[in-house]
Amino acid sequence: MVIHAADNSFPDWVAYNEMIGLGGWGGRNEKSGPYVYFDRQGKLVRDESPGNGGNHGPQIEFPIIVRDREHPIVQGMPLEWLHAKDELYDKLRGPAQNMQILATAESQITGRHEPMLMTIQYGEGRVFHTPMGHAEYSQECVGFITCLLRGTEWAATGKVTIEIPADFPTAEKTSSRAAGK
Ligand SMILES: [Zn+2]
Repeated sequence: MVIHAADNSFPDWVAYNEMIGLGGWGGRNEKSGPYVYFDRQGKLVRDESPGNGGNHGPQIEFPIIVRDREHPIVQGMPLEWLHAKDELYDKLRGPAQNMQILATAESQITGRHEPMLMTIQYGEGRVFHTPMGHAEYSQECVGFITCLLRGTEWAATGKVTIEIPADFPTAEKTSSRAAGK
């Protein structure tokens, strides 16, 4: 499980970067791997051009767009839902091998759809990575909580039995639970 700034760690540890697929900051640049995003037409782009990896703008609420309808982590989720206030990471770079992008969010800075839910196959291991989750109010989002639980279950077992809760956010409205409830 890789959450938010965990993908800032260990810029020079080759195996860690293969596990997380994409990361940011710590001197990451084109040598770390491509900048991976979805363009406006929904096409996956692996941009090898030079540039730093990792950036974000002011914290905002933003829509999460589900890109994969079949993967157990996102199956049954609304195809668009509004995430609570958070940092929207952009320009993440990394090896991005054996990586599947399950959901994206459009960055106001890049105008591109940045990866928000990812799975990576690392050897025999399953990795779930979300760059969401900056602050407690970001992690109190029912969408975040659901992704965290389902992603963890999937990484541990390869399956998901946890259901999408009734208070899941919609395209128009965020939904949060106070910590500990
Ligand atoms: Zn942060």
